[in-house]
Amino acid sequence: MTRIVRTVAELREQVRAWKAAGEQVGLIPTMGALHDGHLSLVRLAQTKVKRTVASVFVNPKQFAPHEDFDAYPRGETRDAQLLESAGCDLLFAPNAAEMYPQGFSTTINLTGVSEPLEGAARPQFFGGVATVVTKLLIQAEPDIAVFGEKDYQQLQVIRRVTRDLDLPVEIVGAPTARAEDGLALSSRNAYLSTEERAAAVALPNAMKAAIAAVQAGERVETAEAAGKAALEAAGFRQVDYFDFRDADDLSRLGPDALPSGARPRLLAAAWLGKTRLIDNMGA
Ligand code: AMP
Repeated sequence: MTRIVRTVAELREQVRAWKAAGEQVGLIPTMGALHDGHLSLVRLAQTKVKRTVASVFVNPKQFAPHEDFDAYPRGETRDAQLLESAGCDLLFAPNAAEMYPQGFSTTINLTGVSEPLEGAARPQFFGGVATVVTKLLIQAEPDIAVFGEKDYQQLQVIRRVTRDLDLPVEIVGAPTARAEDGLALSSRNAYLSTEERAAAVALPNAMKAAIAAVQAGERVETAEAAGKAALEAAGFRQVDYFDFRDADDLSRLGPDALPSGARPRLLAAAWLGKTRLIDNMGA
């Protein structure tokens, strides 16, 4: 079975033993409720390093009081079995007191790439993510850490934080794993009713259509408006954003046709009933 450790001391002891034996280590931070997208990160890490460590910690600091922290799906036994089947070497599953000891008072303060999109919709989110990921990177001392492009802005924020704080780790981005119909795999898809799950495919479909439109010379603003309208027609109750952005700094593109040489990324977040879905694609 994949070994489970719950303390930073045990985690460090194991990672240091591997490194002393000349084995490189990859970290895959997660919030559990694992699916094939998470396991694809483990498998990508295994192509680059000998040892893989997955962390499972539902991080209270990245949820606002009105968000779904209590309802977020949890299931350690199943997670451990899936990690075992993927050949993951270690599961780090700390409790909240191990991560945030009594009197905890330190939060990473971000500007720049964290500000638009998710940062605008969820003001506390990236500060909480950056704080826990920085802690995990310091705790585990991995050679590489793998994050999904599914959370594209998060990946860019983490690249920025590791560069700005000189954290000695290589950040690896992994492509988004999707269901057969194109919906990005997500732990939050478990919230969807059967009807909502059927409607959810409108999100990747609207994104593909918008990308095809701008590639054919359509104005960015027009393609974005058509995408939002398609989502609303499919039953999404609110679109937080459906934006073409620069792939590196996430600055706004448009409103006109894309200039040649642009590096566009389409990012979207929209509500289907009580579930907020996010996705993004290169364009
Ligand atoms: P989460 O458990 O949602 O915090 O995600 C943990 C890691 O898995 C993050 O780096 C996510 O970007 C990544 N991830 C989640 N869903 C997918 C997916 N469908 N494809 C690839 N990576 C994913």
